[in-house]
Amino acid sequence: MKAKAAEKTSKRAPSPRRSPSVDEVPTVSRLSPRVPAAHKGIVSGVVVTPAQIRRRVHELARAIQSDFGDREWVVVALLNGSVLFVADLVRELHGPLILDFIGVSSYGDGTESGNLVYTKDLKLEVAGRDVLVVDDILDTGRTLSEVIRRLRSLGAQRIRTCVLLDKPSRRVVKQGADYIGFQIPDWFVVGYGLDYAERYRHLPFIGVLRPEVIAAAARERVR
Ligand code: 5GP
Ligand code: MG
Repeated sequence: MKAKAAEKTSKRAPSPRRSPSVDEVPTVSRLSPRVPAAHKGIVSGVVVTPAQIRRRVHELARAIQSDFGDREWVVVALLNGSVLFVADLVRELHGPLILDFIGVSSYGDGTESGNLVYTKDLKLEVAGRDVLVVDDILDTGRTLSEVIRRLRSLGAQRIRTCVLLDKPSRRVVKQGADYIGFQIPDWFVVGYGLDYAERYRHLPFIGVLRPEVIAAAARERVR
């Protein structure tokens, strides 16, 4: 009986039905002061720990795997911020899938989103295929909605979206995501792929950038 149900699920095209654990998006409203000593000068608190990331990536992957069928799909990750996230996510997916990257840059050197520029185009064909777009964070919504528009214009058949973080209070464009890791307040965060002026992407956790770091970088630019 169970095997039959699983078979049915695996034959299905991506559907909006997801497991409850993935629909109940954890909301982070408080920072943990337990910042690893090496990074105390960079972040003021921890938003999500490596263990919390691992657990949530596992939940997201389970939901994605059961929503996508056994017809090969394309995972399109947005460079550069989603690289660590997508690397962990795809290793929890059975597929069948193929992986490609689009380069989009919206932030320049600051913490406010600016104009969108494509820095790398897709290599794989998406026409007629099911696509999972993966990004690090949904902020104003401009990046994701632009990328969806582009994938549609390239003929993608079904497009689902997955982001590790969501800052709903920052939305400018009406844009959601199908799979969300964590909801967070309007904090500027770094780590686990997320940068400030290309730095701090390698941190294994996500933390809030200290304002002093931004101020110091601004002074550096003036000089
Ligand atoms: P949106 O187009 O939704 O405003 O922004 C999406 C992009 O802005 C993300 O892919 C990410 O690169 C960047 N971004 C938004 N919020 C943050 C943040 O808190 N920290 C960092 N490092 N990047 C962010
Ligand atoms: Mg990004």
